[in-house]
Amino acid sequence: MSKDAWGYQPRNNRPAPDWEVNSQTDAVRAGLTRTGFGETSEALFLNSGYTYSSAQEAFDAFTDETDHFLYSRFHNPTVAMFEKRLAAIEGAEFCHAFGSGMSAVFASLACLVESGDHIVASAAMFSSCHVIITEILPKWGVTYELVKANDLDAWAKALSKPTKAVFIESPSNPLLEITDIRAVSELAHKAGATVIVDNVMASPILQRPLELGADVVMYSATKHIDGQGRVLAGALLGSFDYIQEKLLPFTRHTGPSLSAFNAWVLVKSLETMEMRVERMNSNAQAVAEFLEKHPAIKSVRYPGLASHPDSAVIKKQMKGGGSTIGIEFAGTQKDAFRFMDSLRIIDISNNLGDSKSLITHPSSTTHRRLSPEVQAEMGITPSVLRLSVGLEHVDDLIKDLDQALKS
Ligand SMILES: *Cc1c(COP(=O)(O)O)cnc(C)c1O
Repeated sequence: MSKDAWGYQPRNNRPAPDWEVNSQTDAVRAGLTRTGFGETSEALFLNSGYTYSSAQEAFDAFTDETDHFLYSRFHNPTVAMFEKRLAAIEGAEFCHAFGSGMSAVFASLACLVESGDHIVASAAMFSSCHVIITEILPKWGVTYELVKANDLDAWAKALSKPTKAVFIESPSNPLLEITDIRAVSELAHKAGATVIVDNVMASPILQRPLELGADVVMYSATKHIDGQGRVLAGALLGSFDYIQEKLLPFTRHTGPSLSAFNAWVLVKSLETMEMRVERMNSNAQAVAEFLEKHPAIKSVRYPGLASHPDSAVIKKQMKGGGSTIGIEFAGTQKDAFRFMDSLRIIDISNNLGDSKSLITHPSSTTHRRLSPEVQAEMGITPSVLRLSVGLEHVDDLIKDLDQALKS
C-alpha cells in the first residue's frame, strides 16, 4: 500500500522501499514530503494560498488539480502528509481530513443522500451522530431507521428496503455495543447502501472495517489519533470513487477543512499511535478485570471481557477491547458523583482516548442532548459512567479507583 504514499515527492532522491512495509513504518514515514532544506521532521505549511510562476501554470493547475496546491480549503501540503500517512496505516485508497470528527460524520452522509433517500444506523451511537441522522438530515427529506446494534435479524429486516447509506458505530460510545461489521456490510450492499463505520472507539490499531467489508471509515482524530488532548480533527477513508467522486465535490464548497497546524500535530501523533493504543488497551483490560470483581460495581461493559454479550463477534473483528470501559454503578447518581469526586488521578472530563485517564457521567454531559427515552434505549442510566483509560501506570489507576470506591 505504502509505495505510492512514499513516492509522493522526492525524498532526497532516495528510492522508496520496494517491499511492502509494516504499518508502524508507514506511521513514521508515509506521506513525508521534504522541502529543499532536507528537514528531518515534517514541515508545517501555515499558508492559505499558493502562487504560480505564470498565468499558464495557474490555468494548468486548475485544469489538473493534483499537481499544484491551489487553496488550503481544498488541500494543503501538511494536511496531505496527514491524509497520506493515515491512509497508508488504514490500507485505504484515499483519506480526506476534517476540522472535527463531527464535520466528517456529517459530510460522510450529506455527500451521498438527497431528499427521499433512506439511512439505516445502529441505535446506540454518539449523541451528535444521533442528532445528524434523526434531526438534521430528516429536515431535508432523508428518512432513517435505527436498529439494535447486535440484532442481525433487525438489520436484515431494515435492509430489505432500498437504502442509500448504513452508519455503524462499533463499539458504540459510551456502552460499547457491538455490530457484526462483516455481516451487516453484506446485507447493506444487497440493499444498495454505502457502509460507513465510525471506528473512533477501536482506533485504526484495533479494528480494520475496510477489511471487514465496509466502504468508508470515519475517525474523530481528536481521540486516539491525537490522543494527547490538543486538537480537534476528523477523517474519512475509502475508495477513489467515494472520496474523489462523491465526498470532495461536497467538501470543496462547504469548507470543513482541517487546519495545517492541527494536521502537523496529528502527523507527529501518528508516529506513536500504535504504542499508545496498545498500552491504553492493556491498561484498560487490567482495570476492567479489577472493576468487574468489585462489589460496588453492578456491571462492567468492556469488549475485552468474556462477559461482553458479543464476545464471539469481538474476537472476529477486534484485536483488543480498546481504552473505554462502561461502568454501571450499584447506587444512585449521587453515589456515582461522590465516586467521581473522590478520584485523585483520573480527571472528570467528557473526552476519551486521551493519554490522561478520564471519567464521564454520560447522562448529564455527553449524552444529555438525547431524551430520557432514547438514553434508556441505549442503556444510559444516571448510574452509568464511562471511563477512558490512559497511559498512567496501571497500578496507580487501580489504586485510585480502589480508594475512591472505598470512600
Ligand atoms: C468524539 C466522537 C465523535 C465526534 O468527534 P469530534 O472530533 O468531537 O467532533 C464521533 N463519534 C464518536 C464515537 C466519538 O467518540
